[in-house]
Amino acid sequence: ATPTAIMVGTGQGARAGMLVKNAEALELAERLTVLAVDKTGTVTEGKPAVTDVVPTGGWTRSTLLAAAAALEQSSAHPIAAAVVEAAQAEGLTLERTNDVRAVAGKGVEGRVGDQLVMLGAPAFLVAQGVSVPDADSTPLAAEGKTLVAVAIDGMYAGVIAVADRVRSDSAGAVERLQRNGVKVVMLTGDHPATAKAIAEQTGIAEWRAGVLPADKAAAVNALRASGERVGMAGDGINDAPALAAADVSFAIGVGADVAVEAADITLVRNSLHGVADAIDLSRATLSKIR
Ligand code: ADP
Ligand code: MG
Repeated sequence: ATPTAIMVGTGQGARAGMLVKNAEALELAERLTVLAVDKTGTVTEGKPAVTDVVPTGGWTRSTLLAAAAALEQSSAHPIAAAVVEAAQAEGLTLERTNDVRAVAGKGVEGRVGDQLVMLGAPAFLVAQGVSVPDADSTPLAAEGKTLVAVAIDGMYAGVIAVADRVRSDSAGAVERLQRNGVKVVMLTGDHPATAKAIAEQTGIAEWRAGVLPADKAAAVNALRASGERVGMAGDGINDAPALAAADVSFAIGVGADVAVEAADITLVRNSLHGVADAIDLSRATLSKIR
């Protein structure tokens, strides 16, 4: 490849909101056959809001939300911000916390006042020995909402549902990518019912749910091992290993510095169309070289 064409392409990209860090990525982009995408913050806006608070076992809506919000103050996850915001909107007083531990892709646990609180994906609580009602039996997950199960002192105390709007242009971008021969595969740590609902709303044909951050990298590697050329688009919260594993990585949204550091191409515009734009730019740049 001529360095001049690549330089020109890189400059054109920068003006169109694609910051190409790695010139080789610009050459490889047109050859991608699969684009793996993170869900939260990539397909969706990444600004979830609490939609339902469903206490059980004698807890009230306020105590459940306050206990969860107290813990979530220590987490950088977008879900955590939503829970804290909901508690603030209701004017709840949050108790002091201790020994808080966030588990990436799963949830958070710690002491809130004199209670031991644990919250996150229902499967995370189940793995810690908490008896949680089957998530499939609630209509919340089927609506595409993410379930944050809460346990207090080892007993299930209820669920907080959080919903994140699908980006208005995600479906259009998925269609454009698939029309260009790039299969879109969504990798998410979320529950299967939620993943399915979001995939259906956006025309994403293939998805894997319950995928932990480290396993997203393994999923990318498995796709590569099967002969695909794999791009990965993520917003950065937990996505750095998967971005690093891909042939070409795209950081979406300018929030997470880790993603920008890990990614070959940073998309300034918060849209999956940026990936399709980068592939178009790659084609145009290489056609000048050939
Ligand atoms: P995604 O793949 O959709 O970006 P993550 O891998 O970041 O999601 O998280 C996977 C799941 O783990 C979330 O859907 C949620 O159920 C749970 N989770 C992770 N961190 C938190 C948190 N701070 N508060 C509540 N739930 C969490
Ligand atoms: Mg994410």
